[in-house]
Amino acid sequence: MTPVPESNWAGNHAYAAARILRPRTLNEVREMVAAAPRIKALGTRHCFNDIADFDGGVQIDIAEVASAIEIDSAAATVTTSGATRYGELASFLHAKGFGLPNLASLPHCTIAGSVATGTHGSGRRNQGLASAVSALDLVTADGELRSFARGDKEFAGVVVNVGALGVVTRMTLDLLPTFDVRQHVFDGLSWAALFAHFDEIQDRAYSVSVFTNWANDNVDQVWLKTVGEPRTELFDARPADGPRHPVHAAGLSAENCTEQLGVPGPWHERLPHFRLGFTPSAGDELQSEYFVPYRHATAAFEALRGLGHRIAPLALCSEIRTIAGDDLWLSPAQGGDRVALHFTWRPRQDEVEALLPAIEERLAPFDVRAHWGKLFHRRPSDEIWPMLPDFRELRAKLDPRGAFLGPYVARNIG
Ligand SMILES: Cc1cc2nc3c(=O)[nH]c(=O)nc-3n(C[C@H](O)[C@H](O)[C@H](O)COP(=O)(O)OP(=O)(O)OC[C@H]3O[C@@H](n4cnc5c(N)ncnc54)[C@H](O)[C@@H]3O)c2cc1C
Repeated sequence: MTPVPESNWAGNHAYAAARILRPRTLNEVREMVAAAPRIKALGTRHCFNDIADFDGGVQIDIAEVASAIEIDSAAATVTTSGATRYGELASFLHAKGFGLPNLASLPHCTIAGSVATGTHGSGRRNQGLASAVSALDLVTADGELRSFARGDKEFAGVVVNVGALGVVTRMTLDLLPTFDVRQHVFDGLSWAALFAHFDEIQDRAYSVSVFTNWANDNVDQVWLKTVGEPRTELFDARPADGPRHPVHAAGLSAENCTEQLGVPGPWHERLPHFRLGFTPSAGDELQSEYFVPYRHATAAFEALRGLGHRIAPLALCSEIRTIAGDDLWLSPAQGGDRVALHFTWRPRQDEVEALLPAIEERLAPFDVRAHWGKLFHRRPSDEIWPMLPDFRELRAKLDPRGAFLGPYVARNIG
């Protein structure tokens, strides 16, 4: 048991929990959970709000519970601890000839924390990371270990769980054979071309990221991550003449970015924007992200461009990605394909928080949802998240004493 040493990774939330429990065995996890009046699982602390905190309670970090990474080649699945980090898992899988369908931009986060918050990468045909989960083990408030598998009645409710249902100790993920990806960056795509060809641009590659500050006449950069033969032109954009950093306009070096210029490489060395051994910043940033149905993409861009003069001074960069729809209750892409509008903010929380209501108001006509793990202003509603009432019922059933409720869940889920 150690005192809570610090805050989340970005340093914008000081944990109010009294201490961190560090069990070494599954039995200790079960005993600690059953004995704790108020408790919250903690991953690698990469969320930007109080989602992993419990004022007056304790946090539990299961990283020291011994767990192997076990591949079932015949079933094409891997089973490991919820505390395993994506970067560690990805290197192991590639060495054994396997891959995951997608990764987020930062490989340092735990699988359980990422899945709990609906974390995603990009690609019109790629679902969020949680969709690869086919089974999980959950220690619930009574200390019981419950297993859930795809096809079970409540499975779609337990996967993206915002840390509200218990401690996820083991997860099984679907695998692909390992695959190669090439990365090409394009400069200076016009907004007119993006608006006119948004679908075609999304179809150009396995994963597409568009970087912009919303204020300039042109979109800043388009990153195409291609499986198979790449296309080396992109409407009125110019192929980049050298490696790029997503915040290229600020003169940041691409040295720590994954290899570009079409050099093929394994999936886990191309799908994230940053190299595995590198942390993109020491936490000197804040993040927000919003999701709108894919059909509203260009209308939502138009709405945000109207705020470009307020966004650009505060944003280090902003990224447009796509996510294929799924049926996981609290997934941002539940019910259909989504476009994700991400903001990496300068660490000026008061100014960022003052701007978020304006962004959310602009996006409100498009049934906007917010990333569970980032900064947002408006409380999620049942209208926008139609499975919230079912999740509330599931939460009350699995955690009748409210051991995992916490201020974030109480405020946002109810
Ligand atoms: C630089 C950076 C880049 C990012 N890039 C992306 C991106 O590309 N796409 C994207 O969607 N998001 C992105 N994120 C957000 C990030 O993926 C999420 O914040 C993710 O939840 C972080 O996982 P974590 O292990 O740090 O979880 P924490 O922040 O520690 O916890 C998050 C939630 O998960 C729960 N949790 C953690 N472990 C367990 C467990 N074992 N059992 C049950 N619940 C658990 C916690 O209780 C809490 O509710 C990024 C964040 C940063 C800092």
